[in-house]
Amino acid sequence: MKIGIFGGTFNPVHFGHLRAAEELAQNFLDKVIFIPTNITSNKKMPGIDPEKRMEMLNIAIKNNKKFEASDIEIKRGGLSYSYDTIIQLKKIYPSDELYFIAGVDAYSDVKNWKNGAEIFDKINFIVVNRSGMKSDSKNLVKLTGFLPDNLKERIKLEYSQNRLVTPKNKYIYFLKITRLDISSTAIRNNFKNNISNLFLLPNEVINYIINNKLY
Ligand code: NAP
Repeated sequence: MKIGIFGGTFNPVHFGHLRAAEELAQNFLDKVIFIPTNITSNKKMPGIDPEKRMEMLNIAIKNNKKFEASDIEIKRGGLSYSYDTIIQLKKIYPSDELYFIAGVDAYSDVKNWKNGAEIFDKINFIVVNRSGMKSDSKNLVKLTGFLPDNLKERIKLEYSQNRLVTPKNKYIYFLKITRLDISSTAIRNNFKNNISNLFLLPNEVINYIINNKLY
């Protein structure tokens, strides 16, 4: 089975995340597992409990058979390093193909993550586009630029498949999705300023945020 691992702070989850996952589940993956961080290692947390971010995810995905949410990073506690999560998931799903889903911004920094060079030996990646990105072949070359130096020279570009192939035969796909111009930061600011968030995230998540006075 092809399983997408969608890691994020999800503070809160919104239709941008959900639409990306939906299109990948329709066209490429058999299942998407959303994994909220316990503490995102490179971000100052605005004080929202991981359990509440997990609850918002559970509410958002409950009617989609191909979506799951996992609390493995929350249960592990401390700072959430994707490398640790990937090692754990490979033990849970030894015979499935795992794909870490990331936007271009997140992907462009992976080499600086904990064990950033090794991550590319352990798991496939799906990098999804940002609004305004055009030519696929140029983007594939651009993805190479973000790799650790020792990998850059040994990577193969397969334009027909929109992917890079590592020496360990892991794939880094560049896949186009409908990138909705929605951000968690803008949503939090809207809540703070009493501006409507309708149609940016599911209504039930909006109600949960209001009832729990999250932002
Ligand atoms: P986030 O802000 O909640 O975003 C989650 C993912 O959704 C990101 O890949 C982001 O891509 C993408 N996204 C955001 N808005 C989107 C939209 N409108 N449409 C489609 N996709 C959208 O999470 P994050 O804080 O960046 O963290 C992402 C993952 O990276 C987490 O699993 C985190 O643990 C991991 N990480 C690991 C380390 C480490 O191991 N040292 C360090 C940093 C992050 P963009 O970033 O391109 O917007």
